[in-house]
Amino acid sequence: MSRQQRYDRQIRFPAIGKAGQQRLSAATVAILGCGALGSVAAEILARAGVGRLTLIDRDTVEWSNLQRQSLYTEADAHVGRAKADAAAERLRRINSDIDIQPHVVDVTADTIGSMLSGTSLVIDGSDNFGIRFLLNDYSLETRLPWVHGGCVGATGQATFLTGRGQPCFRCLIPEPPPAAAQQTCDTVGVVGAATHLVASLQAMLAIRFLSAMPDARDVGNNGPDDNGEVDNSTSGQFHGVDSAVYSMDLWGGRFRRYEIASMHCKACQQGKRDFLHGNAAAAGDQSTVLCGRNAVQIAASGTKIDLERVGRQWSELGRVDQNAFFVRLHLAAEATGSEVVTESRTLTLFRDGRAVIAGTDDLSVARSLYARYVGG
Ligand SMILES: [Zn+2]
Repeated sequence: MSRQQRYDRQIRFPAIGKAGQQRLSAATVAILGCGALGSVAAEILARAGVGRLTLIDRDTVEWSNLQRQSLYTEADAHVGRAKADAAAERLRRINSDIDIQPHVVDVTADTIGSMLSGTSLVIDGSDNFGIRFLLNDYSLETRLPWVHGGCVGATGQATFLTGRGQPCFRCLIPEPPPAAAQQTCDTVGVVGAATHLVASLQAMLAIRFLSAMPDARDVGNNGPDDNGEVDNSTSGQFHGVDSAVYSMDLWGGRFRRYEIASMHCKACQQGKRDFLHGNAAAAGDQSTVLCGRNAVQIAASGTKIDLERVGRQWSELGRVDQNAFFVRLHLAAEATGSEVVTESRTLTLFRDGRAVIAGTDDLSVARSLYARYVGG
């Protein structure tokens, strides 16, 4: 069987067909977060022949990811490889005919435009509300469709959002819940079988939308399609996809679909972009203690770091791991006599100046380590 026949079984599916397959290959999908949802959705979309994938993730592979993030292996966790980098390599082995671009960055109000420019659709693979509210603002501003997904424990949901509002993500959740009220995978756990189902549903909604579009390049930042291309044949649908919430409890075996009531929404009806331009946008750029991970993230400084030069300097201070995406310094525990006074720590510095300091959850300790080894 030739390479051209790779998509044969999908083309035989009448709702996709040859035309749908061509639209998929003309599309660009950004995977915002390559964790449990993003890595699985990315694999499905790569195999389905989406022409261009942008993989965006700020984190590195940890041992606790392997239970559900099926693109990664023990070797990735062992060296703490950047997720976007590891995912890109796996996906290129799966489909060498498509273009795959990894980006190891923290998406903020400042960087989201450069990351998502030219994108047809975004898969929400993020693990926090801040990024989802930012993505929602950006989506409304540029009319970029995205597929929200979330999963905690064995429950999850997925929703296609058009970027035209009514509904948008803030119609569903008006304000980010306070941090203490949020259940996260770090606190209540998550079952791999549930994340796979949510990711699969996100990929399906993306494929339905992308294969039905008149031209994948006509949506998103490259120009809104207001020229009668919206599919109004079925009420409430946009290019054949509805914006209902698909909600599931895998452990209890309950599945439900409900419409989002769009009323007095600050974002899509009142036009507020609090997370893209407002105070909340600035707050998103601050350094944070990474919940449940004994690590602190120092926000990007905005200056480009010469990682090769830093790596050479650090090699005199301790063990250094280095690749195209980051440089990591291992700081050994310091001891006085038999008493350990500091724990062993690692400082991982990315090209945009962002750093993750593992081995402490104290913001001031992390900042002083950053100042000592990176500067600023
Ligand atoms: Zn809204």
